[in-house]
Amino acid sequence: MSIRLPLVVGNWKLNGDRELLTSMVARLKQFDADKVETVICPPYVYLNEDTDGVKKGAQSVSTQDAGAFTGEVAGRMLRDVGCHYVIVGHSERRELFGESDEVVAAKVKATLDAGLIPIICVGETDEERENNQTTERVTQQVKAVLDELPSYSDSLVFAYEPVWAIGTGKTASCEQAEEVHAMIRQVLAGYNQELAETTRILYGGSVKPENSKELFASDNIDGGLIGGASLDVESFATICENAVA
Ligand code: PEP
Repeated sequence: MSIRLPLVVGNWKLNGDRELLTSMVARLKQFDADKVETVICPPYVYLNEDTDGVKKGAQSVSTQDAGAFTGEVAGRMLRDVGCHYVIVGHSERRELFGESDEVVAAKVKATLDAGLIPIICVGETDEERENNQTTERVTQQVKAVLDELPSYSDSLVFAYEPVWAIGTGKTASCEQAEEVHAMIRQVLAGYNQELAETTRILYGGSVKPENSKELFASDNIDGGLIGGASLDVESFATICENAVA
């Protein structure tokens, strides 16, 4: 049995409402937390809701702890309302909000400083894959974070999300995903062997009930970061079921 508990995270992006949160919580509560860890990441305003033990995550975080930063939310505030996780470096944040590798590293630090677990998204664009730059780009993104950490925290999660597969309906094949996941684990091993063995690496990019079982069966895929399919209670529950250890 793997030492890495499967983890399935729903990234709602700018979607969902209180009603969806209530029905999602009721369904996810039925899972045995020793067999699969499930997390909901709704928009910030819903993070204050009581999710009855179902874990919550934020979709981003400020690099700052307090001060004149209009519109920002600090890690300590997320912890205050019961969050466990923060998604950092999602490709939409990188592309639409200009978050560089340096900003992503600062957000990972802010997350860890607040006692939360960052889910660090990495992945190549279509063009980078076509130019055989997948290994180079993903390695660069992973190292940009690890090089900035004072020690190799055991509280990191990575998510490999090929940009070309997010919200497009195109999923990486199991072989393509497994190859990159194994490569990320090798990069982690270059820092610390235990880090490589214990860090969960999720796959994200058009994961659906139909393709999740096969993806999660791969040795180095420890669960999923789910966008579109996390907005439907039964689809997300089926994906969680397919991740059960
Ligand atoms: C995501 O946004 O992290 C994601 C994987 O989206 P989707 O599942 O919709 O491709």
